[in-house]
Amino acid sequence: MALAFDEFGRPFIILKEQEQKTRLRGLDAQRANISAGRAVARILRTSLGPKGMDKMLQSPDGDVIITNDGATILEQMDVDNQIAKLMVELSRSQDYEIGDGTTGVVVMAGALLEQAEKLLERGIHPIRIAEGYEMASRIAFEHLERISQKFEFSATDIEPLVQTCMTTLSSKIVNRCKRMLAEIAVKAVLAVADLDRKDVNLDLIKVEGKVGGKLEDTELIYGIVVDKDMSHPQMPKRIENAKIAILTCPFEPPKPKTKHKVDIDTVEKFQTLRQQEQQYFDDMVQKCKDVGATLVICQWGFDDEANHLLMHRNLPAVRWVGGVELELIAIATGGRIVPRFQELTPEKLGKAGLVREKSFGTTKDRMLYIEQCANSRAVTIFIRGGNKMMIEETKRSLHDALCVARNLIRNNSIVYGGGSAEISCSIAVDAAADRYPGVEQYAIRSLAEALDSIPLALAENSGLQPINTLTAVKSQQVKENNPFCGIDCNDVGTNDMKEQNVFETLIGKQQQILLATQVVKMILKIDDVIAPSDY
Ligand code: ADP
Ligand code: MG
Repeated sequence: MALAFDEFGRPFIILKEQEQKTRLRGLDAQRANISAGRAVARILRTSLGPKGMDKMLQSPDGDVIITNDGATILEQMDVDNQIAKLMVELSRSQDYEIGDGTTGVVVMAGALLEQAEKLLERGIHPIRIAEGYEMASRIAFEHLERISQKFEFSATDIEPLVQTCMTTLSSKIVNRCKRMLAEIAVKAVLAVADLDRKDVNLDLIKVEGKVGGKLEDTELIYGIVVDKDMSHPQMPKRIENAKIAILTCPFEPPKPKTKHKVDIDTVEKFQTLRQQEQQYFDDMVQKCKDVGATLVICQWGFDDEANHLLMHRNLPAVRWVGGVELELIAIATGGRIVPRFQELTPEKLGKAGLVREKSFGTTKDRMLYIEQCANSRAVTIFIRGGNKMMIEETKRSLHDALCVARNLIRNNSIVYGGGSAEISCSIAVDAAADRYPGVEQYAIRSLAEALDSIPLALAENSGLQPINTLTAVKSQQVKENNPFCGIDCNDVGTNDMKEQNVFETLIGKQQQILLATQVVKMILKIDDVIAPSDY
C-alpha cells in the first residue's frame, strides 16, 4: 500500500496487486463502490444543463454517436464495474419512467455518494446514513410538491406545454430549432392524446428521419410515412381516396412442404405447373380487386412475376413493410391486418385520402406518405438533417420532449428549473435537519448539500463561478422567500426562472430524487464484494 497525491493535492491510496484481490470487505468495499459510482457521475456532470457539453462515443465497429442525453451516453459506454452498471441502470430507469432528467439523476446520485464518503470517514454507520437519506428525500419530495404550480392548458392553448418542452430541448444539440421542435412534439402528443383519460400512447407517434435538407424542414405529418416505395417503377405515384389492403401473407403460391415431392419430367408438366402458379397469382390479385382495394401494402415480398402482374392489373403495391409500421398504418387508416387472402373483405380495408410517393434530393430515395387518414390518431414526425448523427440525436431529443409533454398531460404540475427547485429543497431539508436528534441529522444535512450539486454543475458548465453564484442565489431565495431563483445559465439577466420560462415537470424532479436516493442506499448497504476468481 502506498500513499500518493493527485494534481489537486488530494491524497489517495494505491493498493498493490489490486487486480489479484477478488474480495473486498467492510469499509474498503464501500469506498471502492462509492468511487466507482462517482466516476460515472463525473463523466455526466459536464453534460448537464443548457450549456452542457456533448459527448462523442465511438462504438467498437466504428459508428460514432454525438449526444447530450445522459441515458444514451451511459448506454453506449462500455462499463465493466458492477456498481457503475447500477448507475447506468439508474439513468435508464429515469429514462423509462420519465424520459427526461437522465443526466441530473446521475449527477445527484454521484453527489450523494460523495457526501456519504465523508460521513463514512467520520465513522457514521452506513445504515444510519441510508436512513438519514431516506428521511431527507421524503422531506425534499414533499417540499417539491409545495413549491410546484399547476399548469393550465387546453387543446387550443398549447403555449405552456411548448414552453416546458423548450426547456427540455434547450440543453440539446438541436436547441437552434427548439421552438419549432417543441411545437411539433406538443402537437404530435395532443394528436394522439386521450385528454379525458389523461393518457398518451407514445407508440402512435412514429419518428422517422432521412438524411438531407436541414433541421428546419422537419415536419409533423398527420398520417404515416414509410421508408418504402411502390414495388414497380411504373405504378402510380399518387393515389387519392385509397382503399388499402394490409396483408401479412406473401404474394406467392404455397410452397410444397419438405416432405412432398413434385416430379417434373416432361415439358407439358412444367407448363401446367407454371400456368397453375400464374393462375394462383391471378386469383390473389383478383381477390384484392374484388373487395375494392386500390393499394396493397404487404409485409412480405413478391417475386417479379407477381410484381409484373400487379402492375398489369393496375393494382399498386408496396412490399416489405415492417410489422410495427403495418400496425400503425392499420391504426391510422382504420383498416385490419389480413393474414390470409380468403379473409379479405371490404370492411377490412383501410382508408386514406391521399397516398403519395415523394422523392428526395437527386438520389433514388423515395418515401411513401399516407395522409388524410380515416383515423388521424397516428402521426409521424419526419426529421431532416445534414447527417445521420444529427438525425439520431434529434430523435433522442424529441423523445425527451415527447415524454415531457406526455407527463404534463398526465399530471400538469411543474416546478421551476435552472436548479431553483433543488436550491429550495436544499434550504428546506437543511432547516428540517435540526428536528432530528440522532446521527441521521448529519445524513439529512448531507442530502441538502448534495442537492446543491445540480445548481453548482449548471453554474460551472455555464462558465460562472460555481460557489459564488450558488451562495448568491441561495441567499436571494431566503431573503426574498422566492423559490424560483435559479442559475441564469444563458446570461439573460434575471435569476427568476419564472420570468425565464424554465420549467420542468414535478413528477420528473420527484422521481430524480427518489431514484438517486434509492440507488445510493443500495450501494451503501453493500459491505462485501465477492467477485468470481479466475481459474
Ligand atoms: P437531463 O438529462 O437531466 O434532462 P439536461 O442536460 O437536459 O439534463 O439539463 C437539465 C437541467 O438544465 C435542468 O436542471 C434544467 O432546469 C436546466 N435548464 C434547462 N434549460 C435551462 C435554462 N434555460 N436556464 C437554466 N437552466 C436550464
Ligand atoms: Mg433534459
